[in-house]
Amino acid sequence: MQFRSDAYIDGQWRQGASRFKVYNPANQEVIAEVPDLGAAEAEQAVAAAHAAFPAWAAKTAKERAQVLRAWYELMMGDIDRLARLICMEGGKPLAEARGEAAYGAAFAEWFAEEAKRAYGRVIPTTTATRRYVTIKQPVGVCAAITPWNFPMAMITRKAAPALAAGCTIVLKPPHQTPLTALALAELGEKAGLPRGAFNVVTTEHASAVGKVLCESPLVRKFSFTGSTAVGKKLGAMCVGSTVKKVSLELGGNAPLLVFADADLDVAVKGAIASKFRNAGQTCVCANRILVEDAVYDAFAKKFADAVAKLKVGAGDQDGVEIGPLIDDKAIDKVSSMVAEALADGATAVTGGKKHGAGAQFYTPTVLTGVTRQMRVNREEIFGPVAPLIRFKDEDEAVAIANDTPFGLAGYFFTKDVNRAWRVAERLEYGMVSINEGVYSNEVIPFGGWKESGLGREGGVEGLEEYLETKFVNFGGFA
Ligand code: NAP
Repeated sequence: MQFRSDAYIDGQWRQGASRFKVYNPANQEVIAEVPDLGAAEAEQAVAAAHAAFPAWAAKTAKERAQVLRAWYELMMGDIDRLARLICMEGGKPLAEARGEAAYGAAFAEWFAEEAKRAYGRVIPTTTATRRYVTIKQPVGVCAAITPWNFPMAMITRKAAPALAAGCTIVLKPPHQTPLTALALAELGEKAGLPRGAFNVVTTEHASAVGKVLCESPLVRKFSFTGSTAVGKKLGAMCVGSTVKKVSLELGGNAPLLVFADADLDVAVKGAIASKFRNAGQTCVCANRILVEDAVYDAFAKKFADAVAKLKVGAGDQDGVEIGPLIDDKAIDKVSSMVAEALADGATAVTGGKKHGAGAQFYTPTVLTGVTRQMRVNREEIFGPVAPLIRFKDEDEAVAIANDTPFGLAGYFFTKDVNRAWRVAERLEYGMVSINEGVYSNEVIPFGGWKESGLGREGGVEGLEEYLETKFVNFGGFA
């Protein structure tokens, strides 16, 4: 398979003085070596984006939309290669990787359309001699840092609205999955993005590059997806240095509630879709499953039976549903969280150990007898492990669900329409899904409450993040 492995700055493919290795998490083989760039190259990328900004911003929305639409068509035309790249460097099964490629491309399509709808307002005046309007203008140069768990979609969710708004952008992709980012640059170049509009700085020195992106006075907007700990630090740096606009898409601790009045088969299907996507490594994966006393045992049995059948293996093998975890740190974290839960009295009704498919595979696991104090309830597991916690009634379920500093995604299963409204309103989460485990797409506002983040990606809200509002007073009318 052909792919780019050089960085992309100011429309040039750059080799860099040193390079770092990119591994296939299914077998730890080296796939490629990419440039290990530093602060100097990050500054060059920012300068290129700054130089490209006036001409790109001056294009009409329709002209920018045509380039974004072409980018979308090229992504869809290249979907097989993009899916294989995502699978190879990120580990997710090929069918899921294809889903991500289509999902990622859809942001370019959606924001090509939304580019034309950056409306201002006419505000009814308070004084006869004045007229008030607001106009929307691009923020300026943007910088983005993205994680490995969606090597493509986390980039297009930021780059497409930024470019649609008239901004230019510098991206630092994760060190584990830079190749998909470089493929997007290649397709963007073919689509007609001008030099400097979209830059990709590959690096193994995230903090040095991140410091430039957060502190440069030329960068006006910073968008980050990743862990809450890193997001807090970078957000503080952005505000403390230059008061940038900031969007943060951070960690979660999603509850999935199964009420006694739910259709248990629907709940099992939804819980599997939510918990085991990307081997449990998504920010919106159900982290903990809360089940009402009356159906706890029945749900646990049906769920564990279905989980035990999930096929584990390398993502490019036929029928595989659960791929490897991203690296050895991830395997160690999941193993230790399960070991702690077992030591504290939980039971592994299926799984509970590493999987024989390779060093970075973990067996899909269901834990019963989990309590609120256990780490599997309090922290993001980011692996194929489903802890089941009992609750006695709706009040207790909502209390357990909201008892976390995070507020990204919540799920619940019920057939009672009154409960559906009530619980949807009571959950302190940016996104709530009823009777379904997967919902994400380009038209919805994706984002979290509390320590899960700031701002929204996708939907009409996604464009707003890259626009400034300017108020204009037409004064002195005779
Ligand atoms: P992470 O360690 O925070 O890394 C994310 C990105 O930040 C990577 O590009 C990383 O670069 C970079 N980074 C790390 N330390 C940095 C620093 N000091 N300065 C500048 N950049 C730095 O997160 P992760 O473990 O890879 O990703 C998983 C997390 O992302 C989970 O918590 C998950 O919930 C969250 N997530 C949230 C969303 C959402 O939309 N809310 C979506 C997906 C994932 P290197 O790779 O080079 O270290």
